[in-house]
Amino acid sequence: MSVLRVTANSDTCAVSSLCVYRLPGVFDQDEDGLVVVLDETPGSDLHDEVRRAARGCPTKSIRVTEE
Ligand code: SF4
Repeated sequence: MSVLRVTANSDTCAVSSLCVYRLPGVFDQDEDGLVVVLDETPGSDLHDEVRRAARGCPTKSIRVTEE
């Protein structure tokens, strides 16, 4: 089974909260509202939603790789 690894670039995050709203168990925001990844290897039941969150990020700040 493939492992999906999630990283996010807080330097380019636009504080839209979209990813946090969509997947609160995987993404959070720091005190400035910038993205923080809580779970870098979410379970397979979340993979589709993580990919959608990455596609939906307005600044393309979420990177998803499969290993
Ligand atoms: S969707 Fe993108 S811009 Fe919005 S909070 Fe998440 S990483 Fe930041």
